[in-house]
Amino acid sequence: MTGTLPLLIIGSGIAGAAAAIDLARAGQRPLIIERNREIGDAICGGFLSWQSLAALERLGLSPQLLGGQPVNEVRLFAGRRMARAPLPQRGMGLSRRALDTALLDQALAAGASVERGISVRTYGPDAVMLSDGATLKPADLFVAHGKYGVAGHQRHPPAKVAADPVVGLRLRLSATRQIAMLVGEAVELFLFDRGYAGLVRQEDGTANLCLAVHKSRLSEAGGKPEVLIAQWGASNGPLGERLAAADPVGPIDAIAAIPYGWRRSSGPDGLWHLGDQAAVIPSLAGEGMGIALSTASSAVASWRQGDRSADWQRRMARRLAPPMTLARIIWALAEHPRWNGAGVALLQQLPMLTGVLARGTRVPGNA
Ligand SMILES: Cc1cc2nc3c(=O)[nH]c(=O)nc-3n(C[C@H](O)[C@H](O)[C@H](O)COP(=O)(O)OP(=O)(O)OC[C@H]3O[C@@H](n4cnc5c(N)ncnc54)[C@H](O)[C@@H]3O)c2cc1C
Repeated sequence: MTGTLPLLIIGSGIAGAAAAIDLARAGQRPLIIERNREIGDAICGGFLSWQSLAALERLGLSPQLLGGQPVNEVRLFAGRRMARAPLPQRGMGLSRRALDTALLDQALAAGASVERGISVRTYGPDAVMLSDGATLKPADLFVAHGKYGVAGHQRHPPAKVAADPVVGLRLRLSATRQIAMLVGEAVELFLFDRGYAGLVRQEDGTANLCLAVHKSRLSEAGGKPEVLIAQWGASNGPLGERLAAADPVGPIDAIAAIPYGWRRSSGPDGLWHLGDQAAVIPSLAGEGMGIALSTASSAVASWRQGDRSADWQRRMARRLAPPMTLARIIWALAEHPRWNGAGVALLQQLPMLTGVLARGTRVPGNA
C-alpha cells in the first residue's frame, strides 16, 4: 500500500471509528489503519456517561440493543465511609469489545474501510510511514491512536503525574448472582492512597474492575497487580466482599504511563488529533469515551467547513478545559489519604453535590 489518499485515520478505537462514520456519511471514503488484527477488549472502565450514550445514538448506535447494563447510581467508598447518589441521567456499562465492534461495523457499513494488522510507525503532515514499509500521503490525517504512543509524538503530563506515573489495570470478574446483587445498577468507585478502583457490570453480567494507580504505590505491592488488588480488597470491606463474590476471568491487563491531565492545544495543519490524542481526562470521571466521541464529531464538522485543524485544536482545548480542570481536582482529592475520606463524608451529607460534579466533568456543548 503506497500512494496518495484523501483521508486517513490512525486507530479504529472509539474516536477513529466515530470520525470514520461521520466522514463516510459526508460522502468521503476514509481509510483506517489499525495495528490490531482483531478487536480486543481495550483497558477501560466500560462506563458510558449519558452524554456518550447520546453521541452514540447520533451515530446510529443503540447501546441498549447491544445489551448494555443500565447504570443509575454512583457509589463512592473511602475507608469505612460510603456515599451514594443518583446519576444526573442514566449511564451504561458496556464492554469495549462490544462497543468497538459495533462502531467499526457502522463505519464500514457507511463506506469507510480498514486495514488491520498494520501499525503506523510515524507520521507528520506530509507522510505516514507504516509497519509494512509503505508510505502514505494523506491530504488530511485524523490521529486517533489513543492511549498508545507513536515514536516522535510524546505527550507530557502535568509534573505530579510525570514524577509518579500512573498505571491502568483491568480485571474482569465473573457473572455471579452475588455480584449482580452487590453492584446492581451502580458504578462504584473505591478510593485509596495514590489510586482508585472502579467497578461496573457489563452486558454479559461480568463486572469490569478497573484501577488507576501511581507507580510508587504499585511498587509497594512488589509491582504485582494481583497483590495490590488483594491489599485494597483487604483494607476496604465492600471491595473485599465483591472480590470474594466472583472469580477473575482472564489475566489482569495493564497499561503504563497514562498522561492524565494532559491536553493538546496546538498542532500542525492537516492533522486532527482526537480522543486520548486530544486530551486525557482522569478516568474516574468516566468521560474519556465522551471526549473521544465529541472530538471526532467536532473535528469532522470543522473539516467539512474547511476550517484549519490548528484553529480547531485550539478551540477544542478551550472547550475541554473546564471538565479537565474539575476532574483533576476531584482526582487529586480522591487519591489523597487525608482528603478522600473527608470528601466522601461531605458527599454523604450533600448527595446533590455528586450530581453537580458528575455534570461538571462532562464535555460542555455535547448532547
Ligand atoms: C483504567 C482506565 C479506565 C477508564 N475508564 C473509563 C470509563 O469508565 N469511561 C470512559 O468514558 N472512559 C474511560 N477511560 C478512558 C477511555 O478508555 C479512553 O479515553 C478512550 O478509550 C479513548 O478512545 P480513543 O479512540 O482515543 O483511543 P483507544 O480507545 O485507545 O483506541 C486507539 C486505537 O488505536 C490503535 N492504535 C494504537 N497505536 C496504533 C498505531 N501505531 N497504528 C495503528 N493503530 C494504532 C489501537 O489498537 C486502538 O484500536 C478509562 C481509561 C483507563 C486507562
